[in-house]
Order: sequence, then structure tokens, then C-alpha cells
Amino acid sequence: MKDEHQPRKRFGQNFLRDLSVVERILEAARLDRNSRVLEIGPGLGALTNRLLELAGRVEVMEIDRDLVARLEERGHPRLKIHQGDALHLPWNELLLEPPYTLVANLPYNISSQILFRILDHRHLFGRLVLMFQKEVGERLCAAPGTGEYGILSVLCPLWFDIRRVVLVRPGAFFPPPKVDSVVLSFEALAAPRVAVDDEAFFRRVVKAAFAQRRKTLRNTLKSAGFAETDLLAALEGCGLDPQARGETLSLEQFARLAAALRR
Ligand code: SAM
Repeated sequence: MKDEHQPRKRFGQNFLRDLSVVERILEAARLDRNSRVLEIGPGLGALTNRLLELAGRVEVMEIDRDLVARLEERGHPRLKIHQGDALHLPWNELLLEPPYTLVANLPYNISSQILFRILDHRHLFGRLVLMFQKEVGERLCAAPGTGEYGILSVLCPLWFDIRRVVLVRPGAFFPPPKVDSVVLSFEALAAPRVAVDDEAFFRRVVKAAFAQRRKTLRNTLKSAGFAETDLLAALEGCGLDPQARGETLSLEQFARLAAALRR
């Protein structure tokens, strides 16, 4: 038996110890023997063990070599381990049997970057069940015009139905984090919520609109390199006030604005 693992702060290691939270995550994941699961950051295996009981195949990505060694030592015929940084591992080359259900108690410091990666690889996933720091989770469900509304609050609902599963208190983890957490489920939509012809361009417009939150749409889009005449014509064509701020636009309004700017 190996020594007890010392949780590593730099890898955001807060291990789940409340089994009722594990069960809520599994319920939301709706797995059966045909399911293939990707878990990012299996840690000491609180979720992994139950995932292996329920799903046909489980693949994990773990950065901490000591934790990988523990998982390998235990071994399991239906478990595949990818050692490395989930932000850099080549998902398209490793995840060969989509669609996967992605389940993760994410390290808080990389959750936004992981979400952008998920968006770039969304063809691999049917459903996601993810744990976030509460503030980050709330941002994903935020409405236009609120302080929490941001780039990911526009980009994620374009492709997923997002639902809050459970609020999780610090005591559910070891060691306890300083903040509350929340589990969200993301159900992939069959088609994007609104039509977007050029996704890269759409993202560029959304990112530009949020780049300087206190500036008007006119100024922030101008700073991002859009010519003022095109910009004013596009805003007028969409019935948008050039003095409005980017953070007040809904997903539909962003889609219309991007289409008008691309013309
Ligand atoms: N799933 C376990 C649980 O719920 O108890 C552990 C969750 S812990 C919050 C985050 C896990 O992600 C740790 O095992 C950590 O080593 C791993 N991790 C951190 N950064 C990572 C990265 N960039 N790529 C892959 N795994 C990472």
C-alpha cells in the first residue's frame, strides 16, 4: 500500500469525499453499459471507481504522475489512462470512440480554459457534467446585462442546454476549498441554438465586445479593428444602439451582429 497522497495545491487538488455529491454527479451523467466516459482529473478515484461500475469504458486524463501511478497500480480492464495536461493533450488523437460523456471535478484554476477546449472539441461529447467554483458556474448561466455575464455565458449556450445540478459546500472536499462549488450539466444540442455561419468570426465579435466591459459597443469593436462605417451600418441594421455595452447583448443579438459585420 502506498503512502497517503499529499494534496497538491498547484494542481487544484480538492478531493471529493462526500459520496452523496458523487451520486448526484452520476445521476446527472445518466450512464449505462454503452456509455463511454472521459474524466478529467480522476485524482484519488472518488468518481472514477463509480464511473467504472456504471459505464462501458472510462478514459481519464491526469497531470499528476503520482496519482497516475496509483491508478495504474490498481489497474482495470475498462480504464484507459492518459497521463498529461488536459489543456495540451491531443484530444482528437486520443479520444477515438465518441460520443463521450465528460465528467470532471475541475481544478478551479483551469476551468475556463478547459471550457474553451471543450467548445473546440464539442463534436466528441454528448453530455458534460462538470464541477466549478460557484462564481464561475453562475457566470455560465448568467443573463445579459448582469455583472456575471461574460464570453462563456454566450458561447456555451450556443451549443449546450445548461442546467444546475447541485450546490456543493467546501466540507464535501478534502482539503476543503475556500469557496462554494456548483455542478452543472451540459446537454449537447442537435443544432446550434441560433444560426452562426462562421464560428471563428462569431467568437471574435463576442470576445471583442467583452474585451473592455465599460466601453460602448461602438468603441470596443472599433478597438478590435472593425471599420467604423461598417460597424455603424451593422449596428443600425440589427437595431442595436452603438452606445450600448457588449454585455447587454443576448446570444441572438450577437449572432445577428456577427452576421451583419461579416457581410
Ligand atoms: N476527481 C477527483 C475528485 O473528485 O476527488 C479529483 C478532483 S481535483 C479537484 C482535480 C484533479 O485534476 C486532480 O487530480 C489534479 O491532479 C488534476 N489536474 C489538475 N490540473 C490538471 C490538468 N491540467 N490536466 C489534467 N489533470 C489535472
